[in-house]
This record gives sequence, structure tokens and C-alpha cells, in this order.
Amino acid sequence: MLGDEILVGDDQTLAVVNNSILPQIILSDTGLLFLGIEPQTKRPWFVISAQENAPENQELLQTIGRFVPPREALSFLPPSDLALAGRALSLNNWHQNNRFCACCGTLTISTAGGEKRECISCEREYFPRVDPAVIMMVVKDDACLLGRNASWPEGVYSTLAGFVEPGESVEEACRREVMEEVGIKIGDVSYAFSQPWPFPHSMMIALVAQALSSKITLEDELEDARWFSRKEAIAIVNGTHDQVTQPFSRASSGVLLRNWALKK
Ligand SMILES: [Zn+2]
Repeated sequence: MLGDEILVGDDQTLAVVNNSILPQIILSDTGLLFLGIEPQTKRPWFVISAQENAPENQELLQTIGRFVPPREALSFLPPSDLALAGRALSLNNWHQNNRFCACCGTLTISTAGGEKRECISCEREYFPRVDPAVIMMVVKDDACLLGRNASWPEGVYSTLAGFVEPGESVEEACRREVMEEVGIKIGDVSYAFSQPWPFPHSMMIALVAQALSSKITLEDELEDARWFSRKEAIAIVNGTHDQVTQPFSRASSGVLLRNWALKK
């Protein structure tokens, strides 16, 4: 990686840096981080964080691939590479942003292959964090609710989402977020699936939320929110809706919408 960008090979998979190149790379403070063991080959995987302001790195690494912004890379990498890339992005970001001890302000150092950081003065340990967030398909009868943020490209609508606050259950976070964003009361909430979301270290908990009311009252957060029929939802999933598109079909929002539209 170079900053947040991921090195991708010509075959559109993660580029593998071999031993002939590795010693020549000027590493950033984050250096080498252990990602895990590949189950089939038993080979260890590491992410290499190259120093950004070293032109030698650019020159060297561009002989085996090209640097791609993370969101773009996650849209085309094969499923086998997605988990590695996601873990690499999250870990790398956490290490870059936790270089000083929150208790005494002294430098921290990466230990145990990047599994934690330790303060070199007070020895306090810090572990990578994961922030739980809820993302919910709000449904009522045969309609679903999607909203859009003013900063998104025109026509993009998505499921509602928000972070779980301290002291809240997942269900409470879902009901609060929906009430805050669109003024709709939620009854039953059911779990659908979860997805690590490495921007920078969220865990998206995907839910289906049954609405008890249908009148939408917009607050500041969203520019618009609407109810869509199942027929419209199918058109959005298929990319044939004349006004609305979804943001990213592989993300939780896209999967929730597709599953509901196609009744999986
Ligand atoms: Zn300390």
C-alpha cells in the first residue's frame, strides 16, 4: 500500500511483492503488518506500507502493478482478495492514526506483527478498534424506504445507516436512526448479515426493519427519502430505473436491496 492506495496487478488481483523487491522498498512508520495465514497454502500474508514521499518506491512498485484508490479496488477485486484488502486497509489506517499514547502522549510502537501497539513509556497496550454501525432496509407492506444524502451523485439512493452509540443495543440504534433521519417508528427488527467495512474500521450490521408508520419527516441529514415499490426496487437493482441508482452493489446497502427486491 502507498498511503491508502492498494497495489493491484495486471490481472486485477492484489499485487504480490516478492523477495527480490521487498528489501528495496522504503517502508513507512507502519512497516509490515501481519494479515493472517492462507488456509490452503499455509503461507503468511503481510501488508507492506511503503513510504509515500519516496520516489524510489513509486518507480519500483509500478513495475508490478498500479496504485488504485481503495473504494475502486474493492469494486473489482475477487472475493478471495476482498477480506485481505479490507483487513489491510483497516489495520494500516489504525496504525497510522495511533502513533501516540492516549494516556501519556509518548510514542507507541507496533508489536506482535501489528496486532497491537504499546506505549514505550507507560507500556499501555492499544488494540485495533472496530466501530459497529447499523444499516437497515426499512420495509412496510410491499414497499421499501431509501434515502439520499445531498453530497451523493445525482440519483443515488441507499438504505439508511448510522453508528451504534455507547449504551445502545443494535435494535435501539436502528430505531433511533430511522426516527432521527425520516421520522418513522420501527417495530420488529431482524438481523440479515454483517459486513466489515474498512472506511476506516466499521462493522456494518445489516438489518430488516418493519415500519409501523409511513409518513416521512426529513431531518437535516438527508436531502430526500422515498418509499419504493418492489417493482421499482427490482429496476434499481437491475440498473433500469429511470431516476434512481444504487451506490455500490457489493456493499451492504446493495445486498440488502437486492435480497429484498428478489425476495431471497
Ligand atoms: Zn503511555
